[in-house]
Amino acid sequence: MSGGTILLIEDEVEIADLLTLYFEREGFRLTHADSGEAGLQRLEERSPRVVLLDIGLPGIDGVEVCRRIRAGSDVPVIMLTARDSEIDKIVGLEIGADDYVTKPFSPRELVARVKAVLRRSEERPTQSTVVEVAGFAVDSGRREVTTPNSTVVRPTAREFDLLLYLARHEGLVLSRAQLLEAVWGYDYFGETRTVDVHIRQLRKKLPDVPIETVWGVGYRFGS
Ligand code: CA
Repeated sequence: MSGGTILLIEDEVEIADLLTLYFEREGFRLTHADSGEAGLQRLEERSPRVVLLDIGLPGIDGVEVCRRIRAGSDVPVIMLTARDSEIDKIVGLEIGADDYVTKPFSPRELVARVKAVLRRSEERPTQSTVVEVAGFAVDSGRREVTTPNSTVVRPTAREFDLLLYLARHEGLVLSRAQLLEAVWGYDYFGETRTVDVHIRQLRKKLPDVPIETVWGVGYRFGS
C-alpha cells in the first residue's frame, strides 16, 4: 500500500535521513530537496500529496518558498520551524501553511500530522451550510464569515475550521485539547499555543466576534 509521495524541503541531511526512514515505514515515498529552489522544481516534477517545508533554508527561505507554492498550488504544506518565535511569523504573515511543528519534533508526531492533513483535505464538505452565531454567519461552503454589519471576511483554512467548530458548538466551553483534536485532527501533543495563536488571528480579523476566553479551560463562542 502506498500513501503517496511526500516532498521534504530541508537542508539538514540527518533530519532528511530520519524522516525518509519513518515515512517509508508508514507506506509513504519521501522525496528530498535540500534548497527552496530545488524543492519548487521537485514540486512540479513529482506532484506530492504533502510538502514538509523547513523555514531556515539556504538561498530563498521557507516563508518565501511557501508563498511561491501557494501562488500555483493547493498542496498541503507543513512548516518545520526551529524556534517558537517563527510560529508567529508563519501565522502572522498568512503565508498559507496548513500546519507547523517546532524542532526538535518526533517523527511519529510529524507522520500523524501528515495523515491528519491528508484526511482533512479529503473530507472537505461540498454542500454549503451556514451556521449563525450572534449575528455572525459562518458559511462552510464558501468558507467565509459575514459579520453583523455585512462585511465578508475570509479567514485562512485553519482559522475557518476553528471558527466553524466553535460555531457548531455555540455556547459550550471547549478546551484547547478538544479544539486541537477536532480541528487539527491529531491527538494532543502539548502545543495548546497553536489554538491561542489562531484565536488571536480570528479576533483580529473579526474584531467584535464574541469568542470568550474561559480562564483555565478554553474558549466559548456565543452565549
Ligand atoms: Ca534548516
